[in-house]
Amino acid sequence: MDVDASGVPQVAVTGAVPSGPDTDRLLTEAHEHASRHAEGAVADYIPILAAADPEVFGVCLADVEGGLHEVGDTRVPFSIQSISKAFVYALLCDALGHERAFEMVGVNNTGLAFNSVVAIELNDGHPRNPMVNAGALATTALIPGETTEDRWAVIREGLSRFAGRALEVDDEVYRSESTTNHRNRAIAQLLESYGRIERDPGGVVEVYTRQCSLSVDAHDLAVMGATLADGGVNPVTGQRVVAATVARDTLAVLAASGLYERSGEWLFEIGLPGKSGVAGGLVTVAPGKAGIGCYAPRLDAAGNSVRGQIATAHLSRALGLHVFASNPHVEERPR
Ligand code: GLU
Repeated sequence: MDVDASGVPQVAVTGAVPSGPDTDRLLTEAHEHASRHAEGAVADYIPILAAADPEVFGVCLADVEGGLHEVGDTRVPFSIQSISKAFVYALLCDALGHERAFEMVGVNNTGLAFNSVVAIELNDGHPRNPMVNAGALATTALIPGETTEDRWAVIREGLSRFAGRALEVDDEVYRSESTTNHRNRAIAQLLESYGRIERDPGGVVEVYTRQCSLSVDAHDLAVMGATLADGGVNPVTGQRVVAATVARDTLAVLAASGLYERSGEWLFEIGLPGKSGVAGGLVTVAPGKAGIGCYAPRLDAAGNSVRGQIATAHLSRALGLHVFASNPHVEERPR
């Protein structure tokens, strides 16, 4: 068995994740290993986020059978923030279809910070990447609905179906973000000036701010991820949330852009689609197998949970989840 620089044996597995005790043991190992890391800093550009306890740390794996494995603080609530972008994008793809979503918001990484204005200017106003603020605002603007409240209802209900429970806005986070989101308002207006947002940009920012303020826990993220892993069906409720092709397309976008400017490094190390948020949440998806939800508020310089990445890397290796890993079908062929 290969052991790479991380020291965790790298296995390649196809099919389901191992059952009960094995997965629980690996989760505990991943949590213990990541808990030793105290690098990174809690986000503070949204004032309320700075109040998070940096030591809170939970890891949950939800498999496509609906089984849950949890270690640590998996039921501590936090705001979903950027992770909402993945699921709102899935709702948009479901409503608009593959071609139109591709054309309107794009699928490429910008290589620039999540709140970059320069990225918009460099691309002639095309948002290009639905996983950063410009693309996410364009995505939210395209969600069907007559009024701002209608569109908000589509998003809140849609994300709640992914989670399998009614998600609510954290009012304190919403207020804190609403009074400081000048940059997002500027981005929405810039997109409007390029004709990329055809609705009132103020209403779009309002819905976007609410979607980012939805309160979730690591267990919710795991179930939401497992829904994308399971061809768009929530494995806990048994309810179809989006089409299987939409789950596939969303995961492809996450693989390219889910971890801000560190998306390439993440894919190289972990080999799975994922999405992080600045409150410290991280959702990772092993297609056909499981969703992994982590919460640990200390972030790297790009805005990704440090402990969440370390724990997920451990699980990806130990459970053989890397989508690009394979073993030779026949050990050696005579030439
Ligand atoms: N609501 C945050 C913002 O718009 C989300 C950022 C993030 O999680 O990347 O700045």
